[in-house]
Amino acid sequence: MVLDILKYGHPTLREKGKRIERVTPEIRQLAADMLETMHAAEGVGLAAQQVGQAIMLTVIDVGAAERPSQLFIDGKPQDLKSSMPLVLINPEILHKEGEQIGSEGCLSIPDINADIRRFERVTVHAQKLDGQEIVFECTGFLARAAQHEFDHLNGILFITRMDAATRVSFDGKLKKMERETLAALPKARKPRRSPTPHRAGLASL
Ligand code: ZN
Repeated sequence: MVLDILKYGHPTLREKGKRIERVTPEIRQLAADMLETMHAAEGVGLAAQQVGQAIMLTVIDVGAAERPSQLFIDGKPQDLKSSMPLVLINPEILHKEGEQIGSEGCLSIPDINADIRRFERVTVHAQKLDGQEIVFECTGFLARAAQHEFDHLNGILFITRMDAATRVSFDGKLKKMERETLAALPKARKPRRSPTPHRAGLASL
C-alpha cells in the first residue's frame, strides 16, 4: 500500500526513532509499504518517520540511480543492483571517512535541493527483516542516501546540513511549507508553539 509521506513541519519528522526489539508482522508490512511508497514517489530512500512512525526502520534503493556507488561486504565488492533494495532495522554507522559534496533533496521537503557535505565512505551495521545482522561498507551515492536516512531516524532533516547562506535562502519557502503542514494537522497534534529547531546546528555534520 502506498502511504502518505509527511511534509516538512510535521512534528514526527523531528522525533528520534525508537529501537525495534522484535520484527513483527506489522514491521514487515510497514517495510513493504515503505518500499512501495518510496518507489511510487521515485525516491531512493525513505525513513519510518516520513510515514508517521518514529521507529528505527529505513528503506533504500539506489539501483536505478545514475550517480555511482559501491557496496562491500567483508571487503568484497557486491553487485549493486541485485543488492537493492535495502531494508535496514536499527542501523548505526560504525565508521565514516572521506568527504563528498553533492546535490540532495528529500521526499518530505519537495522542491528544495542543495549541495550537502557528507562522508564519502561509511560502514553500516543493521538488522535485516529476517533478524540477521548485516555489516556493509558503502561509498558515493549509497553512502549519501544512508547518511540522509540515518539522520531522519534521529529526527534530523537535511536542511540542517546546508551551509548557512543556502539555508537562509530557503527560509521563506520552508516557513510556508511548515504553516501549510501545521494547518492540515488535527488540532490535538499541533504543538503549542511554532517549532523552530531547524535554526540550530547550521552547517554541522
Ligand atoms: Zn529525506
